[in-house]
Amino acid sequence: MHRIYLDANATTPVLPEVVDAMRPFWSESFGNPSSAHHSGQRTRSAVEHARASIAQLLNCTAKELVFTSGGTESDNLALSGVLQPFLDSKEPAHLITTQIEHHAVLYAAESLQRRGLEVTYLAPTSDGLIDPTALEAALKPHTKLVSIMLANNETGAIQPVGKIARLTKAYAERNATQILVHTDAVQAAAKLPIDLTGEFKNVDLLSLSGHKMYAPQGTGVLFVRKGVQLAPLFHGGPHERQRRAGTENVPGIVALGRAAELAHQWLLTTAPATLTSLRDHLETGLLAAIPHTHLNADASPRVPNTTNLRFQGVDAESLLIALDIQGIAASFGAACQSGATEPSHVLLAMGLTSTEARSSLRLSLSRLTTVEEIDRALEIIPATVARLHSLS
Ligand code: PLP
Repeated sequence: MHRIYLDANATTPVLPEVVDAMRPFWSESFGNPSSAHHSGQRTRSAVEHARASIAQLLNCTAKELVFTSGGTESDNLALSGVLQPFLDSKEPAHLITTQIEHHAVLYAAESLQRRGLEVTYLAPTSDGLIDPTALEAALKPHTKLVSIMLANNETGAIQPVGKIARLTKAYAERNATQILVHTDAVQAAAKLPIDLTGEFKNVDLLSLSGHKMYAPQGTGVLFVRKGVQLAPLFHGGPHERQRRAGTENVPGIVALGRAAELAHQWLLTTAPATLTSLRDHLETGLLAAIPHTHLNADASPRVPNTTNLRFQGVDAESLLIALDIQGIAASFGAACQSGATEPSHVLLAMGLTSTEARSSLRLSLSRLTTVEEIDRALEIIPATVARLHSLS
């Protein structure tokens, strides 16, 4: 059976060019980049080449990038790295984040809150957007960090982070204080252009994850703007300019660098528009074929690959299983500690009822998704929804 992978927001396939780039670093090029000998210098230069490629994708300097083990670590390093020193010195500190963040930010915020941090969780509009005026109203003279994601993993909604960062800096200037801005760009990178010198010049910290951009799992980056002080999460060697101790994951970093080069080229072509049309073809096809279907976050600007649809009267978990049996991979909610699947906290925060959230399915395309696959999905999904309806 040909499997149709529509879960690229969970993880992307690793591109063949990326596998080719990393292969030598599992075998002949195995040196520790901290070693002074030839073998170490070879891997050091590969790590620095990758860093330069990612800097080019983000329009920042290579020195501003810290390699991590993924999006979760990057988010935790940003939040803890900025806020833990205030908790240590018992200086009042306030974090503003949102109810629609990934758990990597939400749970990091909750953990800091348990240790005494004041946290505001902004609610989204019913379209899944954070309103910049709500952010402005929440700022306080002792706010130290604003952390708002760039693209939501469930709905694909693109948040007005450039504007939010501008408003935050203007408030900080008026109050003669310093407020840093972090954005989790894990679901935006390699889908949208990100310019840390242009639209995002007021963003101080930005998280990326390799496995959402066609590199392997277990690789990530945190952009830390020049001059920003971070307390490290790990203690050990002086790696990554004292910001992240631990011998570098050389094959993973090389892969991420190659993926960044490919993303940079991809974004300069018409491919993003083609991906958007393919997603729209899927979306409009399903909306037309299945009565009482709604698009979640329909009024928001969205990344090109994501759609989140609500099939009234259908349990999305049953739909997910039925689709998997027929070779289609999709996604529903998130597994909670007990292993059960919980409806998405993002959809609940947008005001959907638990039943509505439980009938919502996320479909996320990759750069490798074909028209034939979408046409096949347009045959399978409506027939499966109809079958589930007839059983209920
Ligand atoms: N942030 C967002 C928005 C994500 O979608 C994810 C993964 O799903 C993460 C952070 C965590 O990234 P990682 O899986 O690399 O730890």
